[in-house]
Amino acid sequence: MLELVGVTSRYGPVTALHDVDLVAEAGRITAVLGANGAGKTTLLRTISGLHRADKGTIRFDGRDITRLSTDAMTRAGMSHVPEGRGVITELTVRENLRLGQLGRSRSGTAMSIDDVVDLFPVLGDRSAALAHTLSGGERQMLVIGRALLATPRMLLLDEPSLGLAPRIVTQIFGIVRQLVESQGLTVLLVEQNARSALSIADVGVVLNLGRVVAQDSAAVLSADEGLRHAYLGY
Ligand code: ATP
Repeated sequence: MLELVGVTSRYGPVTALHDVDLVAEAGRITAVLGANGAGKTTLLRTISGLHRADKGTIRFDGRDITRLSTDAMTRAGMSHVPEGRGVITELTVRENLRLGQLGRSRSGTAMSIDDVVDLFPVLGDRSAALAHTLSGGERQMLVIGRALLATPRMLLLDEPSLGLAPRIVTQIFGIVRQLVESQGLTVLLVEQNARSALSIADVGVVLNLGRVVAQDSAAVLSADEGLRHAYLGY
């Protein structure tokens, strides 16, 4: 469904991605793993149109999306959940969720705010609370819920586990897995927390200094002790 061929991305003289080839299949979770500075965030920003690729082609369902704007990407069915819990802190939880319904794609499975609250009940409990009063885990649930309201076929998640307690990470990852199983959603999950990510992913891609060094099933990558020690930090 998503395919990158020979994608190179630069920041001035710094080449953050070198000639990256990657496939994320429909209805699967593909985890993008690697240390700080490996190029994971740049990869997501390049896919979603926040950063322009210098070279290469990105295709989504066979369509060349290399030069589409972020808005056009959302309409095409791709929702990007950036790192750092981008909620609007002075709006309530419900108001933040309503924002997700703007600029919906027509292609994904339609979800209502009630559906999102069924997935993340705490968002219903805290519906009238201002978003700045939420915990880190609640904010992460809110940004994922908001992205789902844009009816995506594909979700790009940037480090959803960052700074969260292991119990909350397990809960959020469990819900992501459930969405993939029940709705056929496609997920590209960027994570430094490789062990947790591989526990829910179907496929993993390992980046090092902007290059793909491994791409295989999550089971094969988890079993590769040398690779884990060299690139995945466990
Ligand atoms: P992290 O987990 O720290 O976000 P990452 O794997 O997501 O790491 P990127 O943030 O994509 O890595 O960074 C890849 C490379 O690009 C690094 O060498 C980084 O210093 C460089 N880089 C990232 N953003 C910029 C920028 N705005 N200007 C210049 N260089 C940048």
